[in-house]
Amino acid sequence: MKTDAFALRHIGPREHDVTHMLKTIGVASMDQLVYETFPDDIRLKSPLALDPAMTEYEYLNHIQQLGNQNKIYKSYIGMGYHPTIVPPTIQRNIFENPGWYTAYTPYQAEIAQGRLEALLNYQTTVIELTGMEIANASLLDEGTAAAEAMALLFDVRTRDQKKNNVNKFFVSEEILPQTLSVLQTRSTPIGVELVVGNHEEFAFGDDFFGAILQYPGKYGQVFDYGKFIASAKAKDIKIAVAADILSLVKLTPPGEMGADVVLGTTQRFGIPMGYGGPHAAYFATKEEYKRSMPGRIIGVTVDANGNRALRMALQTREQHIKREKATSNICTAQVLLAVMAGMYAVYHGPKGLHYIADTVHASAVTLADALNTLGVYQTNTAFFDTIVLKADAAKVRAIAEKHEVNFFYPDADTVSISVNETTSIADLNQIVSIFAEATGKTRNTITALSSATHYPENLKRTSDFLKHDVFNKHHSETALMRYMKMLERKDLALNHSMISLGSCTMKLNAAAEMLPLSMANWNSIHPFAPIEQAQGYQTMLKKLEQQLNVVTGFAGTTLQPNSGAQGEYAGLMVIRAYHESRGDSHRNIALIPASAHGTNPATATMAGMQVVVTKTSENGNIDVEDLRAKAIEHKDNLACLMVTYPSTHGVFESAIIEITKIIHDNGGQVYMDGANMNAQVGLTNPATIGADVCHLNLHKTFAIPHGGGGPGVGPICVAKHLVPFLPTNPIIKTGGDQAITAISAAPWGSALVCLISYGYITMLGAEGLTDSTKNAILNANYIKERLAGHYDTLYSGEMGRAAHEMILECRPFKEKGIEVTDIAKRLMDYGFHAPTVSFPVAGTLMVEPTESENLEELDRFCDAMISIRKEIEAASADDKNNVLKNAPHTQAMLTADDWNFPYSRQQAAFPLDYISDNKFWPTVRRVDDAYGDRNLVCSCAPIEAYMES
Ligand SMILES: *Cc1c(COP(=O)(O)O)cnc(C)c1O
Repeated sequence: MKTDAFALRHIGPREHDVTHMLKTIGVASMDQLVYETFPDDIRLKSPLALDPAMTEYEYLNHIQQLGNQNKIYKSYIGMGYHPTIVPPTIQRNIFENPGWYTAYTPYQAEIAQGRLEALLNYQTTVIELTGMEIANASLLDEGTAAAEAMALLFDVRTRDQKKNNVNKFFVSEEILPQTLSVLQTRSTPIGVELVVGNHEEFAFGDDFFGAILQYPGKYGQVFDYGKFIASAKAKDIKIAVAADILSLVKLTPPGEMGADVVLGTTQRFGIPMGYGGPHAAYFATKEEYKRSMPGRIIGVTVDANGNRALRMALQTREQHIKREKATSNICTAQVLLAVMAGMYAVYHGPKGLHYIADTVHASAVTLADALNTLGVYQTNTAFFDTIVLKADAAKVRAIAEKHEVNFFYPDADTVSISVNETTSIADLNQIVSIFAEATGKTRNTITALSSATHYPENLKRTSDFLKHDVFNKHHSETALMRYMKMLERKDLALNHSMISLGSCTMKLNAAAEMLPLSMANWNSIHPFAPIEQAQGYQTMLKKLEQQLNVVTGFAGTTLQPNSGAQGEYAGLMVIRAYHESRGDSHRNIALIPASAHGTNPATATMAGMQVVVTKTSENGNIDVEDLRAKAIEHKDNLACLMVTYPSTHGVFESAIIEITKIIHDNGGQVYMDGANMNAQVGLTNPATIGADVCHLNLHKTFAIPHGGGGPGVGPICVAKHLVPFLPTNPIIKTGGDQAITAISAAPWGSALVCLISYGYITMLGAEGLTDSTKNAILNANYIKERLAGHYDTLYSGEMGRAAHEMILECRPFKEKGIEVTDIAKRLMDYGFHAPTVSFPVAGTLMVEPTESENLEELDRFCDAMISIRKEIEAASADDKNNVLKNAPHTQAMLTADDWNFPYSRQQAAFPLDYISDNKFWPTVRRVDDAYGDRNLVCSCAPIEAYMES
């Protein structure tokens, strides 16, 4: 046996464990288990056609060599992406630290206080820099944040405006081109008409509900929008402003000019460009719109002792509750990047941010002066970091590229240069010499930065920001390192124990997959760099697309979507474009089974489709007769079915081939939600079951870490007839020859983290991938058998097997006064993160162990669940003072002088032997969600201000 095979590192169960596990399940072999799990007619007949697997060592050499084909030029391209300095201590202690990057979205607040605090810092930074009242944490990129702003203003237009029937949205021509493209994609299906124009010449009619501006404009001009905003307000038209976050340190924040929404990217707060992403977008608005806010808001509340605690506020599960009435489908949302950006603000503090912004501005001013001396004419008059010049673009470009320098060239006579945090005086001299060469003149050497300011006096920021303690005391590395560690210790991540969240696939994120993200050749490329400079990326991305084509059985893939939900959206927009191309633009009905993930109906609505819900039969499967009836009823207008496979109930429905045929027979396309792909890879695929398009969650099945709620990559893979419609980008063309407009801002979305999935597939190969699937099924069925007799499993396949996850029945425990939440909280005392609570069935737990967990960990989890089951048995509905209701137990409770509970301290915190070796202490008692929602506080206001409320 090759003991250096990566599969042996990725997959948990050892050979001898497998024998024991199969025996427990009651099958003779892995093949028999798979046979009993899987409908026979969808089994793949041959292995995946992938290259032989590489070892970790081979892969790291390979990726280093491939990385050498990416050329790192000095980037002054700007256009929403800038070189930045990732503070080394943040890189090492957060970006490269599994304690941060393997955590999940902080649904279980008591064991997530660390990242919740980091996100509160992020929100505070955004609120104060923009001058707004509330902010979320966070969105996918600036382009989609702009689209969310448009959707929010459209949604609230009837509230305080008599504007029920108006649908026009003004877009300043100063908007970034990729943002405009995303706005175009998102506006049409919901019935918004975009009017693009010059804000200085434009006069509003009565048929407008809102407008969006870019601040500073796309070519660096700092406009005074005061008059424009006032004229809009006079007509009750709402304003969104896409603003450069660093410029807000120096410029009057849009909130002080009356903006209703302010949004943008926080990339330049210490996040590598990564050839386009991932980066966190920010979104800030007014208190009155809090209930329409997309994404997640972190808020302050109290725990069972009345102590301050943090948790996700309000719309935590918005799509799950609102479903087709939701106006946004944001779920995964760049949390790790928001944590890093917030920490950048903590590290630098207000003084440091002023210093950085002052230096950037001074560099731009100095450069403009020097070029002026050379006789180069500058077209923008007021600017922060970007200067625009009249020059022979082709000539300048040839010289610049010879010196390994990239500018942006809007047209043949224009060169745009954005300077940034990394720009030195030597860099400025290099730029000047490029122009000296182009103009044939001799240059003077710059020796110091200018102290002049080149934006209008009345746009100078006068308000303070970031006065809170947290931004003013962690400025030495030791202090910051300890602050980050203090937060990390409050959070339970995969480096502590299994996180068996059903539908979320929390598998190993291997170090060998992660290491390349820190290599400069991969993380320092601008998304709009000329393609010849990014050959390493081009090769890697194409190979990954091919690998995903092989895995899904499809013909084409786009990597653009930045989350699963955004993949769903891309998929439906492609289906829409396909129908339109055939003159079938009336096809707008989306059939969605009742058990679908909340993002499905929300997405269908965003894609302009009408949702028709189909029934689930008693055994949890799709009710085929109901589906058939509805497909026939709507056959003239049927657009698609959205189906999750294996089902959200964790079962391979044997009727799937019949189901997809019914849809096709009635003129619809089949969209497969691929979140459960971990149960399929190598055994079956979406093409075989008859789907036309699916999204994959690379942050579930393909090993990208969840990062506490993002990054994510949600590529869609499509059958041949849909390939022409895959999305493009306005600056670097991608996609098919009838491409839809952009889904995300960057051409290849979050290209940097695509490396992780590429590494995963390349190191596992066909056999390792298939073995992973089999072991995921093995682990799930092992848990199911071990818990049999203690917990019922709600649904199983025809031969009694689960797929890669199972739903545990907890509703009968209500008789004992025990809710499913009590079990989730009690698991914390046992050192585990809860499985998925109340999805897809309220009052149940959905468990997905994944292939990466070994037998010992599965046994510890089962022991914990069985022990909790005994505690439930001992509970009584009349007495709420028990070990489950009081869970989780904190160290403070346990060590307090008083112990007034009717069970022992040992029972509370160390109910099983294994716990003392690896005790995890929740840092707060159970949080009070309702209190926090009634008193929404979403910034780190001083503690006194919070006490007053
Ligand atoms: C996770 C998930 C999604 C959404 O993916 P995000 O990346 O969080 O947007 C959609 N459908 C199902 C079934 C999922 O489990």
